[in-house]
Amino acid sequence: MVTRFAPSPTGPLHLGHAYAAILAHDMARAAGGRFLLRIEDIDRQRSKPRWEAQLIDDLRWLGLSWDGPVLRQSDRLPEYRAALADLWARGLLYRCSCTRRDIEAAVSAPQEGAEPAHGPDGLIYPGTCRAAGAPRPGEPLPDAVLRLRMDRAACSCGFDEIGPRHAGHHRITPEEMIATVGDVVLARREMGTSYHLSVVLDDAAQGVTHVTRGEDLFDATRIHVTLQHLLGLPVPVYCHHPLIRDENGKRLAKRDDARALSLFRAEGASPADIRRMVGL
Ligand code: GLU
Repeated sequence: MVTRFAPSPTGPLHLGHAYAAILAHDMARAAGGRFLLRIEDIDRQRSKPRWEAQLIDDLRWLGLSWDGPVLRQSDRLPEYRAALADLWARGLLYRCSCTRRDIEAAVSAPQEGAEPAHGPDGLIYPGTCRAAGAPRPGEPLPDAVLRLRMDRAACSCGFDEIGPRHAGHHRITPEEMIATVGDVVLARREMGTSYHLSVVLDDAAQGVTHVTRGEDLFDATRIHVTLQHLLGLPVPVYCHHPLIRDENGKRLAKRDDARALSLFRAEGASPADIRRMVGL
């Protein structure tokens, strides 16, 4: 078994991160497997070295150890671009110049009262740039926002989930992907890649067998499994865990600095206290 913790260094680790990290760590250790650490720092604007240094310090303080070197997504841009070039050459991507406002305007055109449909990434893209943004024969991968042609990319596939809320086998159909996900962005402006593409390539490169992460990402898993099929990568087992919530039932976010591990540390909490607080 190979598991991983994949934080973004865009703020302090809070109790929710501690829960995710301990869960992935303990699962691997209980099975005699490997636990890996990956820094998801493709968002160059928001990722900061000081957050990375602090999260590594927090994880060590929690008593977690990881196997092998830390993988940093910012070191893997050539791999992401190579996968995009492959998909581009296969006619599966197109350039998109729509702003969020363009998309809102296109989908909110009067449609007999139908509510605009939302997918895992927000409004389902209406396909405005599909024809004009298509690759011309032999054209190299452009440095642009690139969307996946879901009508060509989607396949019948599935994945196994072992998390508490959605345990079982989940089937994915092309019809459902077209209707409820649509043409997702695989290369974002100023990133040259996207969360969806990077996470799939990294999990495969690191040999991750069990992806443990928050339930908020359950819906995105269909995108990841579709990409794994397109790119000939293995499909890991998924384990989506409940999110740690505050006393009002609101999920913790990075800005909830009130629950930052560093604050609990400063107040004298022990790693055992943190485990107790998150129920592990
Ligand atoms: N980097 C993501 C986060 O900080 C986690 C991605 C994943 O586990 O797939 O929430």
